[in-house]
Amino acid sequence: MSFSNLGLSPKVEASVEAAGYDIPTPIQAQAIPVAVSGRDVLGIAQTGTGKTASFVLPMLTRLERGRARARMPRTLILEPTRELAAQVAEAFELLGKNHRLTVALLIGGVSYEEQNKKLDRGADVVIATPGRLLDHLERGKLMLNSIEILVVDEADRMLDMGFIPDIERICKVLPFTRQTLFFSATMPPEIKRLADNFLHTPERIEVARPASAASTITQRLKKAVDHPAEKREALRSLIREHKIQNAIIFCNRKKDVGVVFRSLQRHGFNVGALHGDLDQRQRTATLDAFRSGEITLLAASDVAARGLDIPAVSHVFNYDVPVHPEDYVHRIGRTGRAGREGYAAMLVTPKDHKALKAIEALLREEIAWVDGAPDPQEAEEARGAAREGGRGRRRGGRSRRNGLKPADAQSEASSNRRSGSSLADASADDSTNTAKRSRPARKTADADTRSDDRSAAREKSAARDRPAARAKPAPREKSAPKGKSRSGQARENQPVGMGEHVPAFMMRPVRAD
Ligand code: AMP
Repeated sequence: MSFSNLGLSPKVEASVEAAGYDIPTPIQAQAIPVAVSGRDVLGIAQTGTGKTASFVLPMLTRLERGRARARMPRTLILEPTRELAAQVAEAFELLGKNHRLTVALLIGGVSYEEQNKKLDRGADVVIATPGRLLDHLERGKLMLNSIEILVVDEADRMLDMGFIPDIERICKVLPFTRQTLFFSATMPPEIKRLADNFLHTPERIEVARPASAASTITQRLKKAVDHPAEKREALRSLIREHKIQNAIIFCNRKKDVGVVFRSLQRHGFNVGALHGDLDQRQRTATLDAFRSGEITLLAASDVAARGLDIPAVSHVFNYDVPVHPEDYVHRIGRTGRAGREGYAAMLVTPKDHKALKAIEALLREEIAWVDGAPDPQEAEEARGAAREGGRGRRRGGRSRRNGLKPADAQSEASSNRRSGSSLADASADDSTNTAKRSRPARKTADADTRSDDRSAAREKSAARDRPAARAKPAPREKSAPKGKSRSGQARENQPVGMGEHVPAFMMRPVRAD
């Protein structure tokens, strides 16, 4: 199979060759001929499969006919995050260099002015995150009634981030007779419903079992003890044991990204840090430095795990075992991309064995240990101790906010983010809450990304939706105060300490003697 029999134009074929792509990946081989013919595509594929080119190349071919008019773009690509949107823009730059197309990148965190200029000049391609696109629409800077091709990328991630109501609003103002290319790594019921609504007799193309790890990745486990300094030492020896071109080190918490980053720096490693508390400029600069090889190691939270295209990452190190098994697949998917060899190693402490079993169950395989499997008895004892510790903590003191001790409050915040009831969500609008309720409990979105990309978009979205939400409240919404999820509300209603009740004996005057 080669690119020459997929129906691409000679100009596009030339840029594919210049990009160094010899053989189409499975999603490209199957999706490109369908997309070039103008039919809808339902692509079930993860990042790393070459799916970006599977929609960019046919779009380029089809855009060769006609030109865009001011503020009336011809194609629209929706991406869940700024990073992904920027990556797709880069793919257009690389693969569209023989085409004189105007690409407008509409993402948050950057000024409107440049984006407006691009739109005024007439953009052939708009690549946008939903929130920023809606802002431009409301400011009258953009009309979508000339859209010929719509791409919805990473739809399941859009769902995780609460963007589905925005996507539905955007789709309502698009022409009915457009072509739609729809991509998702998984097909939960909400995504299936969305696809059924927006696609017309699509060709369904599935390239890999969802949540499967690429066979080019060597996966290994390494025993570690549950002590921060010793764990960091184990990480350093893991890094030193390998001939690393570049590596991403994943931590479960932003705080630990900072700790690991500083520790590696102190030990003389060439390292950068990437997590959702950094502003867009810092994130872009760090990613660019990592891509160019200026930085060899990147300590990261899951914000970097999903979707980011950093070609040729030779190693992934999991400093922590991820709580959600799907995150493991996304993390290790940063290496071994597009058929390359990759290596992923994970530090496992005795208390991580349950989470490890969940990962192995998802992968349907056992991962090998570099230095022999731990004694099962030992692991069981450690699990028991962890359970006991957990109970002890729960019986302990409580914080003012939610009745938990600070350490627990932190893990609570992270688990709430996953279950869709974070503090950031407290500012979300009613439509978001409705969307959240209709979602299953499984949450794989990166918490940092949610607070980053989502909160800004949601805040604006909240402001936009407020009048409508007030005018027609959802019946089930009435009992929950605006902006609060049911679980959040339930938690707040739980009495802290003795609640409002003050026992009579405590009201008696205290004797001074
Ligand atoms: P994606 O899944 O779109 O994020 O692509 C993953 C990586 O594979 C990107 O770095 C692409 O540049 C690269 N890639 C895409 N298609 C091909 C191909 N046919 N041959 C080699 N590399 C490719």
